[in-house]
Amino acid sequence: MKKRKRKPNKGTKAYEIWKAKLDLKKKDQVWSKTVRERDGNKCVLCGESPKALNAHHILPKEFYPTLRHEEMNGISVCPMKCHRREAHWNGVVFAIWLQENRPEQWAWVVANRKLRMEVKKVKKVKGEGGE
Ligand SMILES: [Zn+2]
Repeated sequence: MKKRKRKPNKGTKAYEIWKAKLDLKKKDQVWSKTVRERDGNKCVLCGESPKALNAHHILPKEFYPTLRHEEMNGISVCPMKCHRREAHWNGVVFAIWLQENRPEQWAWVVANRKLRMEVKKVKKVKGEGGE
């Protein structure tokens, strides 16, 4: 049986975290919709318009949290073929495509790429206890 997550009580730390996550999710959805509508609800690479069209972050949101909801940082791609394979696995080719087909977006990427933040991965050290 699946346990249903309960909404934490207002005023608690858990509530703040829950609320922040929810707000981020809502912002993501608005951003994604804006990007997809701008691109005519089509994959910019292959022209297909699947139900689950993705908005891809050109500058990854993990390293560019401040650009997470910038319209210029998004591009519409179909989920598997173009998002996974072209945009993520074939990054160099995708960058060239962007440069040739979306010069204004490419210029934006070049101008903003310095905003990359150091993201430290927190590793759990096993067997050290005491914390
Ligand atoms: Zn596609």
